[in-house]
Amino acid sequence: MTPLTSWKDKALFTPGPLTTSRTVKQAMLRDMGSRDSEFIEIVRDVRRRLVALCAEPDEYTAVLMPGSGTYGVEATLSSVIPPEGKLLLLINGAYGERMHKIANVQHIQHKALSFAENVQPDPEALRQALDEDPDISYVAVVHSETTTGIINPIEIYGPIVKSHGCIFIVDAMSSFAAYPIDLKACGIDFLVSSANKCIEGVPGFSFVLARKETLLATRGFARTLSLDLLAQWEGLESDGQFRFTPPTHVVLAFHQALLELEQEGGIPARVERYRQNYEATLAAMLAFGFEPYVERTKRGYIITSFYYPDHANFDFKTFYQKLSDKGSIIYPGKLTHANCFRIGHIGRLTLSDVDALIAAISETLREMNISLPARVED
Ligand SMILES: *Cc1c(COP(=O)(O)O)cnc(C)c1O
Repeated sequence: MTPLTSWKDKALFTPGPLTTSRTVKQAMLRDMGSRDSEFIEIVRDVRRRLVALCAEPDEYTAVLMPGSGTYGVEATLSSVIPPEGKLLLLINGAYGERMHKIANVQHIQHKALSFAENVQPDPEALRQALDEDPDISYVAVVHSETTTGIINPIEIYGPIVKSHGCIFIVDAMSSFAAYPIDLKACGIDFLVSSANKCIEGVPGFSFVLARKETLLATRGFARTLSLDLLAQWEGLESDGQFRFTPPTHVVLAFHQALLELEQEGGIPARVERYRQNYEATLAAMLAFGFEPYVERTKRGYIITSFYYPDHANFDFKTFYQKLSDKGSIIYPGKLTHANCFRIGHIGRLTLSDVDALIAAISETLREMNISLPARVED
């Protein structure tokens, strides 16, 4: 087997799990008791640091929930809406659709407002839906729809949701820590993200940033035992512990990742690095002749979808494999109406990784005998 010290993993240009720093991985080389004071102190610091990234600690709190990001979304939707509550879902991609599936499985009364994958949910349609149906008391939307890389304007939805007295739930899985989000200014009551996205930890838990007052008013609403958000919070607040076995190694890695976020210069520095990765990738892809799926003004810098080029020699599996053989992992598309693949810009990646990716794409296109006219964007 390859010894750890000479091991260079392939760079992950994906939506997660992402490339992490060596020191984040090394933080896991410990066996820590889940009820030990050292671990409890680390959990406390993780929760404190998460809130400090986006809100005032007397107004907001952080709940850690084992499982991937979807578990955090399901924990929130299934724990904070009472039987008589009605949820409005704004959908423009696979992750919005996933919330819809959760609402169905959990028997949450709901209404879905669906939009095409390349457009943002229309704020006027939101306003109208809330005006027309006073039973709606909750609104949920995805911030960065990782399906396409489109960014939905939560800062515009928030005030509309609040002016109708509704509770606002945001899946910010792939944008938290990569976009500055002010929870209060956006009127967010519950924001969900996970350990293995832009904080650059490893997979194993999700976290929910909750307005305390709203969370405390959800007693008795939980539809499950293990995903009960309020009960999980109460455990963390009372003795600092998870109710059930915590992913100790993952929490240690995440704590290290939060320290490294601070060392890098916080969210502004991370925004800058990801944006540079995106701009460099985009410029090269346009020069190669690839066409982005989402229009520039709506596109985020988290992940970009590109159409399969209209060329007889293009085959995604071959393209993917050749890039992988050269050390760069890209990602398939997830669209219902268009053939696309995706390139992520997040994780512990810098311009030198992007340069390696661009060189690999250039070589691969040559090997596949694909030559396309360059594109220009305004
Ligand atoms: C990654 C992601 C999720 C969670 O997916 P998991 O596979 O459960 O981690 C949810 N929503 C969005 C927008 C995501 O990018």
